[in-house]
Amino acid sequence: MAIETTDTVVVGGGQAGIAMSEHLGKLGIPHVVFERDRIAERWRTARWDSLVANGPAWHDRFPNMEFSDVGGDAFAPKEQVADYFVAYAEMVGAPIRTGVEVTRVQRLEGRRGFRVETSEGVVEARNIVAATGPFQKPVIPPVIPATAGVTQLHSNDYRNPDQLPDGAVLVVGGGSSGTQIADELHRAGRQVYLSLGPHSRPPRAYRGLDFVWWLGVLGKWDMATPAPGTAHVTIAVSGAHGGETVDFRRLAERGITLLGMTQSFSDGVLHFAPDLAKNIADGDADYLSLLDEADEYIERYGLDLPEEPTAREFSPDPDCISNPILELNLAEAGIGTVIWATGFAVDYSWLQVDAFDEKGQPAHRRGVSPEPGVYFLGLPWLSRRGSSFIWGVWHDAKFLADQIAIQRSYRDYLAAAPIGQAGSEARRKAPVGG
Ligand SMILES: Cc1cc2nc3c(=O)[nH]c(=O)nc-3n(C[C@H](O)[C@H](O)[C@H](O)COP(=O)(O)OP(=O)(O)OC[C@H]3O[C@@H](n4cnc5c(N)ncnc54)[C@H](O)[C@@H]3O)c2cc1C
Repeated sequence: MAIETTDTVVVGGGQAGIAMSEHLGKLGIPHVVFERDRIAERWRTARWDSLVANGPAWHDRFPNMEFSDVGGDAFAPKEQVADYFVAYAEMVGAPIRTGVEVTRVQRLEGRRGFRVETSEGVVEARNIVAATGPFQKPVIPPVIPATAGVTQLHSNDYRNPDQLPDGAVLVVGGGSSGTQIADELHRAGRQVYLSLGPHSRPPRAYRGLDFVWWLGVLGKWDMATPAPGTAHVTIAVSGAHGGETVDFRRLAERGITLLGMTQSFSDGVLHFAPDLAKNIADGDADYLSLLDEADEYIERYGLDLPEEPTAREFSPDPDCISNPILELNLAEAGIGTVIWATGFAVDYSWLQVDAFDEKGQPAHRRGVSPEPGVYFLGLPWLSRRGSSFIWGVWHDAKFLADQIAIQRSYRDYLAAAPIGQAGSEARRKAPVGG
């Protein structure tokens, strides 16, 4: 039986795969998108039940379609985000084959291209775009042994408060997931501890405009990829309850006990770094610097926006910040569950090509790997801060589709006529860009 061939195989039918398909389609590049589950599956089944988008619907979307059922300034519930991508894929006619897993990709012997093994057979393709997501494998740091008598789960597996055994809950991680989950559990009546590291916590809105607008006009979403080794600082934002600033002092006032970074565990006792006050102070400084930049922008361009002096007022430090807990006996504190909101790793075991660095991480420049024909899309900081977010991945996909088209044009040039006298003559006469 003849093997199916196509120019480009896109692996993953989330927002990245759909954006890639739109741009490849516009350039007339034949392609197939393989998605092992459903379109935008992770928005449906790899997020907690109450999650809404962290950014308002006017912003957290692709440029060519608005949400039909969510107001522009509202925060789309996760199912509606998934529905949006299904509708978008239909609108752009994305050739997505759902329920098909890519199990292995290898270079073809002696000619350009790749053998793509899937759960439904083999395809050969010139190019591979790995769009399998920025957040693939949940990472739980090996701090508390499984035998410690406490339920441990990753934020990826958290769904709602009823899922957890009785008792207090320790949430580890002060990014958007950790703070939102801690808040939800506390509102559900749980006693909650929240362990925080360094973070950025922009105001939800300032002087009438959402922070996504400020980060946009101040060029911060477009900030270029930081140098290798630069420490990653998580961003704590939330669209829950209509969108509120993540304010750790306010969470503490409401009854959540804040802790420094979780460090080690011995004899039933968890140990925390003495860094809580510093993490909070750094977060405040980052918050205030954004207000300053916004004020400067307003002043420079003469914008008529309401003053908001209260945005600079902080409540006094609660006791858990001024007298931080450095040790916590889990049993004595009644903690029955630890939720690790500690991030994700990638898994490219199916992609068996020379596109990885010595640590096994994708090697690339703006998504273009050193293995000709292999591209990465959707990774954090692929080209800019916005790269792993809905609006950012669309622009990265456009760039990668252009790169694929450029390479195609070189191949087409060679294919147009053989090398030699007659071929050179034919090429000289051929129209450019045809
Ligand atoms: C809790 C949370 C909240 C977020 N909120 C926002 C937000 O509000 N706004 C925003 O802009 N961003 C948000 N993000 C970030 C980002 O938008 C999402 O992570 C988004 O799902 C990434 O899309 P993606 O297409 O790159 O990857 P994914 O959505 O992970 O899609 C990858 C797809 O690849 C498929 N796949 C994987 N391996 C294979 C294989 N071998 N063969 C075939 N298919 C495969 C998977 O099934 C999956 O459907 C959030 C992320 C998280 C974790």
